Amino acid sequence: LTLGGRLTLARRRAKMLVDGDTGSTSDWDDRWNHIKKFLERSGPFMHPDFEPSTESLQFMLETCKILVIGAGGLGCELLKNLALSGFRNIHVVDMDTIDVSNLNRQFLFRAKDVGRPKADVAADFINSQFHIIVCGLDSIVARRWMNGMLEHILNLSLLVYEDGVLDPSSIIPLIDGGTEGFKGNARVIFPGMTACIDCTLELYPPQINFPMCTIASMPRLPEHCIEYVRILLWPKEMPFGDDVSLDGDDPEHIQWVYQKSLERAAEFSITGVTYRLTQGVVKRIIPAVASTNAAIAAACATEVFKIASSAYLPLNNYMVFNDVDGLYTYTFEAERKENCSACSQVPSDLHFSPSSKLQEVLDYLTESTSVQMKSPAITTTMDGKNKTLYLQVINLPFKLGLADGQELAVADVTTPQTVLFKLCFTS
Ligand SMILES: [Zn+2]
Repeated sequence: LTLGGRLTLARRRAKMLVDGDTGSTSDWDDRWNHIKKFLERSGPFMHPDFEPSTESLQFMLETCKILVIGAGGLGCELLKNLALSGFRNIHVVDMDTIDVSNLNRQFLFRAKDVGRPKADVAADFINSQFHIIVCGLDSIVARRWMNGMLEHILNLSLLVYEDGVLDPSSIIPLIDGGTEGFKGNARVIFPGMTACIDCTLELYPPQINFPMCTIASMPRLPEHCIEYVRILLWPKEMPFGDDVSLDGDDPEHIQWVYQKSLERAAEFSITGVTYRLTQGVVKRIIPAVASTNAAIAAACATEVFKIASSAYLPLNNYMVFNDVDGLYTYTFEAERKENCSACSQVPSDLHFSPSSKLQEVLDYLTESTSVQMKSPAITTTMDGKNKTLYLQVINLPFKLGLADGQELAVADVTTPQTVLFKLCFTS
């Protein structure tokens, strides 16, 4: 479905459930009765400081502005839940139409802002508009970018107040949901107070690949057979010419991989290779599971409701959900990381020997599970001038230019702000 189609579907579904197909879009008597039960009378799970009243619902209906990022399987489910919970000011950004490397420009930049730092413009825009942000994304990069943006907003507002004390009103909570097949998570982030996305980056492990020996000689799963064809057979046979690499969007390519995978599977009496699975493995698609999306969206919408109404204590702060085999959920308090590159303002130390090369730093920045950058660009200050460390120097040892204790500023698509690192020479 296109974005329009998905939104229409979500709207229609919401309408069927709420309106009873009356065709009316305005409120009718008792429309919010189901919500009022949570807000206008006390109950055992209520926030200890909350006084039941009609104010919370009024705030939700009339004032509270929510930014929902992502309008895919999870995002649309979220929109439906939020709409049914009484939120009316909902803004949606769909990542399908936005290039992650250009988030600032495409998503929040306006002509009147020419000349201002883009990250500042975006921060102002979000800060002046939204009370709560909800992410229902399948992209870790976009999620990290949004996380970095909220930290940036916080930094800017701290600069404005300059009293070093966190002003709670400057905090925009981030509710983040994620799903992958039968697994999912929902978390609540109060920037500057609780663990941010980057604090727990190790929880998003890089792509897991099957061991090569399994693929090459002991396949057990249909996926192993497809990986065999993709990794080993394609480069050997080059079925579409010497320079043609495998394109997951080319049906002829997928057809070829599919046929060869079937042969491989037959050899080892493995069943389950299908065209669809072949495409999924080649394109690294993890199938979306509607029930997982529904459960995670429900958890996220509940958190939005709790925070917007302040009637209930929010999730503290990370819930994992897994229905691969039976049902399992678990909630824990993810902890802030002292030198988190997104929320700590403390430059992380990079330990390298003076004879190391820039390439080794680049490799570290992309491969380390705690950094996981995509295409880092490094600048530093030398003789009082900002210098970009160009590709040409990546094979020269540090001792030809960089000094111990040198600060390196790194820009990457995973963050709207440059991240500072300090080079520490090891002997
Ligand atoms: Zn952090």
